[in-house]
Amino acid sequence: MERRAFVSEKELEYQRECAERVRAVHAGETAWVDTYGCQQNEADSERMRGMLRDMGYILVSDEHADVVVINSCAVREHAEQRVFGNIGHMTHTKKENPNMKIILAGCMAGEETVREKVRRSYRHVDALLDTTSFWRLPETLLRLYEDGGRIIEDGEPDSRIAEELPVVRTSPYKAHVSIMYGCNNFCSYCIVPYVRGRERSRLPEDVIREVRELAESGCHDIMLLGQNVNSYSGGGKSFAELLAACAELEGDFVLRFMTSHPKDCSRELIDVIASHPKVERHIHLPVQSGSDEILRRMNRRYTAEHYISLIDYAREKIPGVIFTSDIIIGFPDESEEDFERTLDLVRRVRYDSLFTFIYSKRSGTPAAEMPDPVTHAEKVERFRRLNALQDSITLEDRAPLVGRTMRVHIDGESRTGELNLTARTQDGRLVSLKGSTELIGGWHTVKVTGVSTFSLSAELA
Ligand code: SF4
Repeated sequence: MERRAFVSEKELEYQRECAERVRAVHAGETAWVDTYGCQQNEADSERMRGMLRDMGYILVSDEHADVVVINSCAVREHAEQRVFGNIGHMTHTKKENPNMKIILAGCMAGEETVREKVRRSYRHVDALLDTTSFWRLPETLLRLYEDGGRIIEDGEPDSRIAEELPVVRTSPYKAHVSIMYGCNNFCSYCIVPYVRGRERSRLPEDVIREVRELAESGCHDIMLLGQNVNSYSGGGKSFAELLAACAELEGDFVLRFMTSHPKDCSRELIDVIASHPKVERHIHLPVQSGSDEILRRMNRRYTAEHYISLIDYAREKIPGVIFTSDIIIGFPDESEEDFERTLDLVRRVRYDSLFTFIYSKRSGTPAAEMPDPVTHAEKVERFRRLNALQDSITLEDRAPLVGRTMRVHIDGESRTGELNLTARTQDGRLVSLKGSTELIGGWHTVKVTGVSTFSLSAELA
């Protein structure tokens, strides 16, 4: 029954045959996957890089590559404009290399308006591949090479899952593992359900196998990904059960997950976090607003009271747990009273940090049609007040960390400042410290020397 939601082995075998045929002629040419947007797109890009590597391409970061795949984001209109700007610029690049293939992939490729615009005005784009069909990349390239022309197909998203695609991971120590795709929630401001299709979950055995292989290969930081991980339902298992099974695997790794939806975040999940030390003591729980009226118009389907009851339950069960969240300021017709309720909720929850956004209209969503008499200047002022409040909470709550020792995973080099290494605590906070680059890739104990709203500074203990 369940397997009907999956791309068949025969279809995947056909993709491998196409890859071989592309490889026979094009091995040694260059390919670039340019990624925009969220971690889900990062994860999809890693699979596309895997397919390109198997086709013999040399992976580069250069718009002059022989194949350029733009893995786009549709969440914000100005991000779309940026992508179109970059694609427009590539007309010159393609004139220099007429054999170059340009493929627009990702969320934008699933939008009817984008398909039309590319058909009419971006004639140098060879193909579109939406998020549900990027596993057809080998077949797409083969058709472009052998048949010529362009591939811009209309129709519904595929809504099946392709397992066992090759992958080139960005880091050996950190990995994203998609556990589900799509979204059924239709928050009134969000385009995702229209471009990524309905929710579908991978089977638990497939997810667990991938996490086990990552842990065995020495990966220390594993993020389970989905648009709404709390509604995972693969093979009859809940997300809490899947998380517990992954957290019981052997290995020295921390397990993170993103994104949670407060209407589906269960007490069972909180109990699993509490009883499994490998799961990070941090919950990113996007609240979006503290006003029930705004939450209703956002179609979020929970109340501020329900949200706070989850926070209280988690604090009771998981000592030291920290919370982060997303908040949209200036949703259509947000009153000063609505905004004050958001400030009250922030004071009550005391987040470790917040991702705050001023609402921006997304065509194709119900919220884009809602009347909005609030001026931009008022929204900017509220945005400033919210961030000032959160900054003061962050600094107050982080101050007692100075002098404490903690275990961090050093995962890279910093591009700025004299603290040359970046690390993460087990609860996901960013840390800057000074040390040899040979420490990258390992767990180390550090002593916190300072805090800011952005990160902790530390020294090796
Ligand atoms: S839960 Fe809401 S905001 Fe998140 S992807 Fe789904 S529709 Fe968009």
